[in-house]
Amino acid sequence: MRLISAQLIETIGLLQCREVISAWAGQKIARIGVNQLRLKQTLKLLDELCLPYQLVPELVFAKRDVGKGGWSNKFHDKQNISPNKGDHLIYLGNTIEAVSRAMKADFYGEEGDFGDKLGIPSCCIDFYLTHQETAFQKQNDFVPLVFKNTTTLHSFNFWNNYVSQYFGYSLLSFFPCSFNCRHAANLAKNTYDLIHSIVPEQAEKILHFQMQPILYTEYRGIYLFEGAKSESGKTFIRDCTIHSTLNQASRTHQLISQSKEIQVAGKLKIKITSKDEGVIVINNSNWVMCTFI
Ligand SMILES: [Zn+2]
Repeated sequence: MRLISAQLIETIGLLQCREVISAWAGQKIARIGVNQLRLKQTLKLLDELCLPYQLVPELVFAKRDVGKGGWSNKFHDKQNISPNKGDHLIYLGNTIEAVSRAMKADFYGEEGDFGDKLGIPSCCIDFYLTHQETAFQKQNDFVPLVFKNTTTLHSFNFWNNYVSQYFGYSLLSFFPCSFNCRHAANLAKNTYDLIHSIVPEQAEKILHFQMQPILYTEYRGIYLFEGAKSESGKTFIRDCTIHSTLNQASRTHQLISQSKEIQVAGKLKIKITSKDEGVIVINNSNWVMCTFI
């Protein structure tokens, strides 16, 4: 399993490999999207695992979000794009019957039922169903909504840091109903144990990234502050490594890299202090500063 996992990581990336491992372990049904050019190799590896799967023959086309480093939370409606850019959806699980049932639920838009088959806690499914239209009006990410639904302002449970997925690392495949949801956190812990038993160094890397504070903006990039310390909602970013989904020339990136401190000052209030002590207050529901302990 270890060797095949390493090959899967190389072929479809760590996040999708996590999904395959969870399905292989019987913890859930998984749905992955695989680019046509990587399909043959992926199916070969799934066959080696003897993992039942169903492949959707029609291609889907991921729509790139603005400012999120190529990440996609939506599909294109139109399909007049080069087939090489298309992905095949593959449903995986430990029995072909369970895989088919999940695929049907997804196909017929039975989102609650499909979420259940993906192993998502019922509180998080309900949250998703209640807020999906609001999220879809923007780019279909739930960070601002999850933040709004979290009773505390900072120091969230790091197991629920799904925002680090934008940097390639996360134990959650769904939006938790709150950054402190204990059901989602338990699932993340189980996934960590499973991944750790197969590819321990990758599991540790995921956890490392989940512990880092992240500034999320809907359209102006996402910023992960590796090695930054956070205390009572203040994050000290002077000497940390800044990872960003936007290039360094962007205005927001410039603002962030010239700052020394970011403070969560309210539900919709972020204070950014520059290295020369200038303070900018941002009141924008598209900006969320997430800190974790
Ligand atoms: Zn929940």
